[in-house]
Amino acid sequence: MFRDSVRAFMKKEIGPNTDRWHEQGIVDREAFLKAGEQGLLLMWADEEFGGAGVSDFRYEQVLIEENARYGDAGFFMTLHNRLVGPYIGELGTHEQKARWLPKCISGEHILAVAITEPGAGSDVAGIRTRADDKGDHYLLNGSKTYTSNGINADLVVVVAKTDPQARHGLSLFVVERGMEGFERGRNLKKMGLKSQDTAELFFNNVRVRKENLLGEVNRGFYHLMHFLAEERLLGAVGYLAAAEAAFDITMDYIRERKAFGQAIAEFQNTRFRMADMRTRIDVAQAFVDQCVLEHNRKELSADNAAKAKLFTSELEGRVMDDCVQLHGGAGYMDEYPICRMYLNARVSRIYAGSSEVMREIIARSIGLDPRKKHSQPSSASSRSAA
Ligand SMILES: Cc1cc2nc3c(=O)[nH]c(=O)nc-3n(C[C@H](O)[C@H](O)[C@H](O)COP(=O)(O)OP(=O)(O)OC[C@H]3O[C@@H](n4cnc5c(N)ncnc54)[C@H](O)[C@@H]3O)c2cc1C
Repeated sequence: MFRDSVRAFMKKEIGPNTDRWHEQGIVDREAFLKAGEQGLLLMWADEEFGGAGVSDFRYEQVLIEENARYGDAGFFMTLHNRLVGPYIGELGTHEQKARWLPKCISGEHILAVAITEPGAGSDVAGIRTRADDKGDHYLLNGSKTYTSNGINADLVVVVAKTDPQARHGLSLFVVERGMEGFERGRNLKKMGLKSQDTAELFFNNVRVRKENLLGEVNRGFYHLMHFLAEERLLGAVGYLAAAEAAFDITMDYIRERKAFGQAIAEFQNTRFRMADMRTRIDVAQAFVDQCVLEHNRKELSADNAAKAKLFTSELEGRVMDDCVQLHGGAGYMDEYPICRMYLNARVSRIYAGSSEVMREIIARSIGLDPRKKHSQPSSASSRSAA
C-alpha cells in the first residue's frame, strides 16, 4: 500500500516535471512541500516534531525505488531525508530538533551538507573552511563546492576546521539561509543529473551562533564517519533502482523495435545480455536487501556498506551502457529516457566515496592495510576511514 501511494505521488507530482526541471537546472521547491504534505519527509522523526516515528529503512528504499522509476533523478529527497536529516536527528539537542525538524518535515526547509571544497574531496583532512571561536559565536570563513541541493537549501550542515593544529579538528555547523556573509555561487553545469542544483557556497565572516554547532566541537570527523554507512547504503539502493528502471524500459523497447524482420529481443545477443543483466541485478538486490536489514538492526558494517556501494554503482554503469547499446541510435537521443539515465549514472562511482575509496575500505577490512606496517592509528583522513 505504501509503495502504491508513493508511486501515485511520483507519477502525479514529480515525473511530469522532469523536462522542465532538466531545462531550468533545478527542482521546484514545491516538490518538497508536496512530499511533506504526503508525509514522505524525514519519516523517522519523532511525532512530537511532526514526523511519523518510522525508522525502518525499507520505507526509504521504496521512496528511492519509486523515484528512480517514476520520479526524477535530480529530486534529492533522500539526501534531505536520510543523508542530512539524521545529522540533526541524532546529533541535535532537543532545542535544535524542535527549532529545525518541523519545517524539514513539512518541506518548507530543504537540507544540504557541505563537506567538499575545491581542494578537499576524498581527503577531508584537507578542509580549509574554518570556524573561529569568538565567545558567543563562531566566525565562519571559506568555501564549499559540489553541494547537492545547494541553491534550494535553507539549512546547510557545513564542515569546518575548529582546531587548526589537529588533523581531524573538524566541527559541524548548521548555516541558515539569510545569514549575513553566506552566499551561493554558481549552480554548476554537469554531465547528468541536470535538474539537481549542485552549487558552490561561500562563507565570508558568517557569525554562526553557538546554538548552531551540531554535535561536539572538534568531533566533526567522527560524526561524519558515523553516518557514512547509511549514506553508502542509500547510494546502493538508488543505483540498483536506476539499473532496474533501465532494464525495464529496455525490455519494452527491444520488444517493440524490429530489425531484419524480427524484434530486437529475439536476437540471441539481446536475450543473453538481458539475461546477464537480470542475473546481476537480482544477485546485487539480495545483498543490498541484506544490508538494509542489517542497517535496521544497527549492524551494518562499514565494509559491507562499501561493498554494496562499490558493486551497485559499477553494476549500474555497466547496465546503462548495455541498455544504450540495445536502444541503438535512439539510446543516444536525449528524448529517450535511457540517454539521460546513462549520463546520470556516471557520477555514482564518484560521489559518496569513489569506487577507489570503497576498494580501499574493503581491502583494509580483509587485512590488507599498508598503514599497519608503520603502526599508524586505524583512522585515516579520507572518507575511507569509517
Ligand atoms: C554531482 C555531485 C554531487 C555532489 N554532492 C556533494 C554534496 O552534497 N556534498 C559534498 O560535500 N560533496 C558533494 N560532492 C562531492 C563528492 O563527494 C566528491 O566529488 C567525491 O568525494 C570525490 O572527491 P573529489 O571530487 O575531490 O575527487 P578526488 O578526491 O580529487 O579524487 C580524484 C581521483 O583520485 C582517486 N582517489 C582519491 N583518493 C584516493 C585514494 N586514497 N586511493 C586511490 N584513489 C584515490 C578518486 O577515486 C578519483 O578517481 C558531489 C559531487 C558531485 C559530482
